[in-house]
Amino acid sequence: MALYKVEGIVLRRRIMGESDRIVTIFARNYGKISAVAKGARKPKSRLGGRTEPFIYASYLLAEGRNLDIITQAELIDGLPAVREDLYLTAMATYFIELVDSFTELREAHDDIFDLLWAVLRLLEGGAEPDLIARIFEVRLMTLLGYRPQLERCARCNALVGSAWRFDVSIGGLLCRECRPSAAHLATVSADAVRLMRLLLITDIGQLVRAGIPENLLAEIERVMGAFIDYRSESRIKSREFLMQAREERKNKRAVTG
Ligand SMILES: [Zn+2]
Repeated sequence: MALYKVEGIVLRRRIMGESDRIVTIFARNYGKISAVAKGARKPKSRLGGRTEPFIYASYLLAEGRNLDIITQAELIDGLPAVREDLYLTAMATYFIELVDSFTELREAHDDIFDLLWAVLRLLEGGAEPDLIARIFEVRLMTLLGYRPQLERCARCNALVGSAWRFDVSIGGLLCRECRPSAAHLATVSADAVRLMRLLLITDIGQLVRAGIPENLLAEIERVMGAFIDYRSESRIKSREFLMQAREERKNKRAVTG
């Protein structure tokens, strides 16, 4: 059996048989890989804890007839702070679901890998999760070939001063003249558009230090959410978990003052 080693982030796992798991790993140089972790659900398994979602580990795989088999796993980073906090866990779950739903098996995407790992590390380091999420969304869509058109009207190329609408089917802004009566339109303020441009091009560390107003992030969340839903072939399930976790976080903050 041929062996090979990958470094990757676990996107998903599901039960197989009595004690095994099928694990989907997003690996550097390989892209998405599905592999079997034998006995991973047994209490004493060494593979168990290393095949949990958003674990970053190095895996030794053996080529199998159908599915490859994980023979060894060495933890690189388990993101303990993210795992301890419900909202951060929900956010990390959202990030890996987006990567999972927009990538194909065995298609290497090292740029997306680097972005995913960077945003997970920022969550771990205590950066504002909603800002990190918006940076991730605009940059992920760009790396997938859906860079939002935010400079000029996506249809007639006119410069537009105000009253922008974002057309998710075109993936860009439309001016007042080009705005059709069709659906898929989300209003977006000039400030939110300016911020989206910055999220695309500004150094992430600088954005994290800047302190971005919550209302603008919420506006961008609506626009990018609609855009992602339009482009995605499957429903993004983790968004519900994220909304619940956000409510809990708000309540907790209200209590602790
Ligand atoms: Zn136009």
